[in-house]
Amino acid sequence: DRPEIAADPVTVPCQYRTGRTLGSGTYAIVKEAIHIKTGEYYACKVINKKLMEGREHMVRNEIAVLKRISSGHPNIVTLHDYFETAHNLYLCFDLCTGGELFDSICARGQYTEADAAELVRTILEAVKYIHDCGIVHRDLKPENLLFRSKPERTSEIMIADFGLSRVMPDSKFNMLTEVCGTPGYMAPEIFKKTGHGKPVDVWAMGVITYFLLAGYTPFDRDTQKQEMEAIIAGDYRFEPEEYWNNVSDAARSFVSSCLTVDPDLRPTAAEALQHPWLTAEVPHCVEKD
Ligand code: ADP
Ligand code: MG
Repeated sequence: DRPEIAADPVTVPCQYRTGRTLGSGTYAIVKEAIHIKTGEYYACKVINKKLMEGREHMVRNEIAVLKRISSGHPNIVTLHDYFETAHNLYLCFDLCTGGELFDSICARGQYTEADAAELVRTILEAVKYIHDCGIVHRDLKPENLLFRSKPERTSEIMIADFGLSRVMPDSKFNMLTEVCGTPGYMAPEIFKKTGHGKPVDVWAMGVITYFLLAGYTPFDRDTQKQEMEAIIAGDYRFEPEEYWNNVSDAARSFVSSCLTVDPDLRPTAAEALQHPWLTAEVPHCVEKD
């Protein structure tokens, strides 16, 4: 079941002029693109069919998922257009000019707890929406979270990159087994191949929250094997102390609940949103001396 292709796929790319490269990932280069007729700017994900050979279904899946959810939530990137030529597939998105959350964290060192809580709440609301639509994202990480504009406002964080997402009916018997994602953000059950689903996105939110608060990720190890073993064991600490002494118990408790090794005991996105760290009117914080 191929997605509908624009009427004349060969001439369509001529409607856009591509500019500077915005970013690149595993399979794609994303370029700034201007729609010639309207002068509007977009982000165009260019996927080389040859590089994707045998995995073209992944792009078709990404398009199908985006058609189902984009425009439905303010914090999910909108797919505007897609078409293909003999060599490439093109996905045109709303342009996010504020850059990746990853770069924002690196620039700041770490987020204040109040900013982190607001950001995590906004992203989790969008994750809940995705899950309610029966979709699991599977690649949540700061490189796939983009700010709509500059200066970066927490309310304008956008979930992007649905390349690994899957439609996932609500059933315990409907589990995914393929090992995929970005190692540092992958949940234990993905490595254990015991079947996985929506809980993997909540685990990733735990890793992202830890990263926001500390400025580094919880399972960094010398080798990928050690990293995997640490994840499976849930072996992380709120250390070194100097990075954590300004972080409240509520924040630590939130991270710990998302990083529950057993996916059946891990909170759902909806439950995680009810955690006191996210519901507190006055953000939790530790008094500085
Ligand atoms: P991949 O599946 O290859 O990881 P992504 O969809 O994550 O591709 O896009 C790669 C990078 O391109 C992102 O990490 C981001 O830096 C940039 N990018 C993607 N979509 C947009 C967008 N709508 N606006 C601005 N930059 C984007
Ligand atoms: Mg990506």
